[in-house]
Amino acid sequence: MVAARALRRFYGSAAWRDLKGAALYLKGRRCAMCGRTDRPFHVDHIVPVRVAWAARLSMTNLQVLCVPCHGGKKRRIENAKWRRRK
Ligand SMILES: [Zn+2]
Repeated sequence: MVAARALRRFYGSAAWRDLKGAALYLKGRRCAMCGRTDRPFHVDHIVPVRVAWAARLSMTNLQVLCVPCHGGKKRRIENAKWRRRK
């Protein structure tokens, strides 16, 4: 597991900000789960950073989700899927 402090530092880094911008540009502003284009977006790690630290800056590990999808469904899937991998 990755320390919460390291995660916070990563999400505040210029490298992540740049990558997020690039992901929105390359993948487009469209939610990968519900397909909506009219909502605020969140660039999501398909395999969570806390699980796959080495893939934190990998474009292939990113997807664009709208904020409601990221906050709801995705989190439930993630919790179920990754709970036992500690
Ligand atoms: Zn969505």
